[in-house]
Parts: sequence; C-alpha cells; structure tokens
Amino acid sequence: MISRPFKLLLATANFGKVHEMRAVLEALPIELLDLRHLALHLDVREDGLTYAENAAKKALAYAQASGLATLADDSGLEVDALNGEPGIYSARYSNLPNATDADRRAFLLARLEGKPRPWLARFRCVLALALPNQALAFFEGVCEGEIIPTERGQGGFGYDPIFLLPSLNLTMAELSTEQKNALSHRGRALRSLIPYLTRLLSE
Ligand code: IMP
Repeated sequence: MISRPFKLLLATANFGKVHEMRAVLEALPIELLDLRHLALHLDVREDGLTYAENAAKKALAYAQASGLATLADDSGLEVDALNGEPGIYSARYSNLPNATDADRRAFLLARLEGKPRPWLARFRCVLALALPNQALAFFEGVCEGEIIPTERGQGGFGYDPIFLLPSLNLTMAELSTEQKNALSHRGRALRSLIPYLTRLLSE
C-alpha cells in the first residue's frame, strides 16, 4: 500500500544526476525530494563489485535513514580499449587526491594515449528503488559512444565533454538536459522505471 502524496527521495549527492532524474520524473504525480531537502548525508561505502550492488547499498541506507521510498543511481563509463575501465570506479578514477571531474577526464585520456582509435565506450546506469516492505527493484540503461581526445561542450557533468555520440557528432556535454535524457543511459533507465511507478501509484 502506497501512502499519499507519494514521496520519492532521489538519494544522490551528485546534483548533475538529480537534475537529470527530476527532468524525467517530474511528469509523474509524485513529490520528488533530494538530499538538499533533508539534513541527511550518509557515508555509504561503495565497495560492491557491481553497479547493482552499489545502487542497492545507497537505496537501502537512505530509505532506512529517511523512512521514504528511495531511488539511487550507480553508473559509470566503460572503455573497451581499457578492458571496461573505469566502470564502477568511474567516480574515483584518478591518481590525485581530491580529484575533480576535469582531473578524471585528463587521467582517462592519458591512459588512452597511443591506443588506436576509435575509443569505443559506453555509459551504464543502474537504478535501485527501495520501497517500504518490498523487495528492491532495479532498472538499467546503456548508451554507446566513443571517447574523443579533446573536450567539447559545457553541459552535463563527469565524462560528458569527452563522450561523443557518433550518430549526432555531438558530445553529451553539447546536449540540453532533455536531449541528453532522450539518449543517455540514465534517461533510458529512468524511462523503464516509469511504468513500474505508474503501476504502484494506481494500486
Ligand atoms: P557513482 O554512480 O556515484 O559511483 O558515480 C558515477 C560516476 O560515473 C560519475 O561520478 C561520473 O564520473 C561517471 N558518470 C556517470 N554518469 C555519467 C554521465 O551521465 N555523464 C558523465 N559521467 C557520468
């Protein structure tokens, strides 16, 4: 039984992700909360070996602490020429302490130097939804593309300025939020969550 109004906590401190999640989910008759609305920040150790494990850890920890239905995202970039690196370690991929997104992009490009192009890659996103008294539900999305050696665009976050969508000849950072969501791993995962939430809301 779902209590009304249905509140959903977007449990990520990455506000680039929150912005993209809100843009897709705001079409639903639910109240979206994020960590800025709650005086809550948990140090969840992302030591799982899969995206799903890490997403589950985050969703369960925040659901337990907040008492709210909670959606968590674990995502990453997989580069074929690096045997799938950085993958689940994408947020920490650097040799510097306190690295920024720009440092991680530079580190990735340094690892690719000298390797033959195209540098095929994909973004992957796994969402975990934790609801009171229900098993966790998972939703996955993938977006194929290519890493380029020179940054392009100002939008998005993370590896977006070096992730090219070859069919558009645009990087993820050159797209609006709506355009990115239409194609991206996160947009795809979120759209597969919508029928599930809609069904819950009609019960
Ligand atoms: P985590 O899910 O918090 O472990 O972090 C995922 C990391 O993967 C982010 O910090 C980014 O570096 C990268 N990433 C995930 N999704 C995207 C995206 O949509 N654009 C660019 N980078 C992303």
